[in-house]
Amino acid sequence: MMLLKRIAGTWNPTSFDLVFAFLFGLACAHVMPIGGMLARIGEAMGRFVTAMDAVAWPQLPAGGGMAAGALLGLAALVVVAVGLVLRARYGAARPLARRDAPAEAAREAVRETDEQAQMIARINAQLEAQLAALLSFVSRYIKQSDAASASWSDAQSQLKAATSVEQIRSVVQILVAQHEAEQRNARELRNRLEEAHARSEEMRERLAEAETAARVDALTGVANRRLLETFLDETVAKSHSEASPLCVMMTDIDHFKKINDTFGHQTGDTVIRRFADLLSRNARATDLVARYGGEEFAIVFPRTASGNAFQMAEGIRSQLQETEIHDVESGRPIGEVTASFGIAEIHEGETSTSLIRRADRKLYESKRKGRNRTEVETVSCERTD
Ligand code: GH3
Ligand code: MG
Ligand code: MG
Repeated sequence: MMLLKRIAGTWNPTSFDLVFAFLFGLACAHVMPIGGMLARIGEAMGRFVTAMDAVAWPQLPAGGGMAAGALLGLAALVVVAVGLVLRARYGAARPLARRDAPAEAAREAVRETDEQAQMIARINAQLEAQLAALLSFVSRYIKQSDAASASWSDAQSQLKAATSVEQIRSVVQILVAQHEAEQRNARELRNRLEEAHARSEEMRERLAEAETAARVDALTGVANRRLLETFLDETVAKSHSEASPLCVMMTDIDHFKKINDTFGHQTGDTVIRRFADLLSRNARATDLVARYGGEEFAIVFPRTASGNAFQMAEGIRSQLQETEIHDVESGRPIGEVTASFGIAEIHEGETSTSLIRRADRKLYESKRKGRNRTEVETVSCERTD
């Protein structure tokens, strides 16, 4: 607080200063994750509250309004920055183009995206409401402080002009009342800031949860299509810039509808989860496993040629056949589960959409050729462009 007052007394911001501060805030918003930003706001509030304990709340100097203005500006900047970060992160999601996508899986992906967007929007609205309430309170506090400041000056002049003990006593009474009112205000401000601190912590946690939910498939815990899209775009760009190979593998459980029809959806879900676990266990730290929809998955293999990707697929395929999965209700084994695989290696200058499409075609070629097999399209195979 003392620091704010000192800054207020000496700082005369020009328009350039304000524009610079705003741009700096925007730059911070682009590099600082939302969780980190909220943590810093919380930390700053905590420090502010602690500092206030040590202050006896004497009269505000003439520049006090400026200090408070800086505080208001900072809070407004945070609202703008949070809005920008959320919009940049969640506003521009584009679905991947998909040939042969089952209508149900597509509908499910849309529903999931809608729910996540709504959750982010709710948290965003709560955050904005909280900051707006804080802003309005700080603004009210500033007005009260300005009034108190005027009253202190008034008392000071009365004290100078006082000639009798009675007059001095009455000025002192005013000063004591004034001081008590200011202490009440300070206590209220302290409580409000502590409350805001606690709420910002809570929201930081909820945002972290929402961030995870926006990228992870709820049933299996592997990446969802949104994360696949982002990861693949980045990996394709890297593959082109460093001229390294890149493979995408699409895989789909064979005759899954029959498993559902025979053992029910719960057992069907268990099969999907076990298959996702198997894929994750076989993936390297640099690979990405994603649920593409229903019982279909994609794995991105960066810096991997098709020969290696083929070996991985064949390894997974035989492990799946050996995996024993039990019916949820009866506990009896459901018998052999198999999957088909399609692999494509990236072409020069190829987009992620085209790469996925080619891997998908290979998957359906595996299905056509009898299932429980792997088909690979390499650089030397037909080009789609
Ligand atoms: P194919 O060998 O050609 O892949 O045949 P399939 O029976 O596996 O494929 P199909 O596309 O005909 O059926 C997939 C079924 O998966 C249809 C859908 O109801 C079901 N399904 C989609 N998502 C889920 C899910 O999350 N859980 C369960 N239990 N079933 C799902
Ligand atoms: Mg299937
Ligand atoms: Mg399928």
